[in-house]
Amino acid sequence: MSLKLSFYGGAGQVTGSNFLVESEKGKVLVDCGMEQGADLVEEHLYGPFPYDATAIDALVVTHSHLDHVGRIPKLVRDGFKGKIYLTPPTKDLATLILLDSVGILAEEARMEGRDPLYETSDVEGAFALMEELEYHVEKPVAPGVSAYLRNTGHILGAASVRLSGEDGTTIVLTGDIGNSPSPLLTDWEPTPDADALVMESVYGDRLHPRHKDRVETLLKVLACAIERGGTILIPAFSLERTQLMLYELSNFFSAKQLPEIPVFLDSPLAIKVTAVYEKWGSTYFNPEAEAEMKKEKSLFEFPFLKATPSTQESMEIEQVKGQKIIIAGAGMSHGGRIGGWESQYLPDPKTTLIMVGYQAPGTPGRRMLEGAREIRLGGHPVRIRAKVENVEGWSAHADRDELLKFAEAALAKKRPQAIFTALGEPATERFLAQRIHDYLGARAIVPEYGQTWEITKESVKEVQH
Ligand SMILES: [Zn+2]
Repeated sequence: MSLKLSFYGGAGQVTGSNFLVESEKGKVLVDCGMEQGADLVEEHLYGPFPYDATAIDALVVTHSHLDHVGRIPKLVRDGFKGKIYLTPPTKDLATLILLDSVGILAEEARMEGRDPLYETSDVEGAFALMEELEYHVEKPVAPGVSAYLRNTGHILGAASVRLSGEDGTTIVLTGDIGNSPSPLLTDWEPTPDADALVMESVYGDRLHPRHKDRVETLLKVLACAIERGGTILIPAFSLERTQLMLYELSNFFSAKQLPEIPVFLDSPLAIKVTAVYEKWGSTYFNPEAEAEMKKEKSLFEFPFLKATPSTQESMEIEQVKGQKIIIAGAGMSHGGRIGGWESQYLPDPKTTLIMVGYQAPGTPGRRMLEGAREIRLGGHPVRIRAKVENVEGWSAHADRDELLKFAEAALAKKRPQAIFTALGEPATERFLAQRIHDYLGARAIVPEYGQTWEITKESVKEVQH
């Protein structure tokens, strides 16, 4: 008895998470994500899946980031009719993320002169197949395969997936592992029962600043920005990062660490995502944050915060005199409403732009980070006289040492036959694999796209196609 594990995405790359696990009778996918580069629409996105979508029994989703869910509507369009299992918060968030992606894909496709990858009807087809699966419930999902989810502390609802065969052979796939401790989420749970472990390695070779330092730095940067007297722009990632920013701002203001100035949440998606965080906060946050939620109803609101979902409300921000903070997407300044604010305010030397996340090569955010004094936004050149600040440590991913701790915890009881380092750049995956081997004495494998491995309780072997 064995399980087969194939890597069809997220091997040697951070994005495009897609793994196939097969028993003798059943086929289960874990994640069906979008590959993301400088350009969302890449040639390989449009190609066929390397497996028959109609033959897949079920899909289990680790979390709602686009690089883990973004190709689900295409899978449905290609004939997948099985169930899609995910935690209740992940279901709500994936619904928002997928509906939002329809517009982005349509826009990109128009520029490239081709049909979009999928449309709203495909997304709705996916919703009809979704079935909620709570953490810590063993659920048969396909002939000869059952699934069990555990919290990974990455974003709200994120889970690792343990898939078990009939004889108890187990494969655990981590999805993304959180930057614990988080002020909102419970720390990641160990997975001490894998015969084979597939773990993420995005920051497998880097360390984050300490959590205390990242809050202090953010406060310092904000205080300086307010002192400069101009508008403060924060390009924000809608999911998790925006909620963390609101949470910290709320704390700073209520502790009177910053003077009270109006804050605008100018992102329709981030506003909806924040509502999902409020909906599940009293049951899916860590105990302290849950208690705070029950007492205060929301951790993300404060008296002079204004959400501006409609275009009209967004336009009215301009009329507000005096200093203000504007939080708007997209996080790398590559679209969304932030571009308009940047065009308007970056030429003003009193403005401060605060970046709180990874800026991919080729994006306007990255160019500003590298010191460009002029960028193109919406087809127009924009002169940058504003101060550009970069605040590190707000990533939702575990760093080098935390990943090693995760691997060590996975080895504590039942030693996996092998640990695969996936979902990272090739050099990072190799670095983490080397450390797992050297420090923990475990067999670590850097998987390649298209490889299939046979997993039993006694061995892990590559299957030659
Ligand atoms: Zn993620």
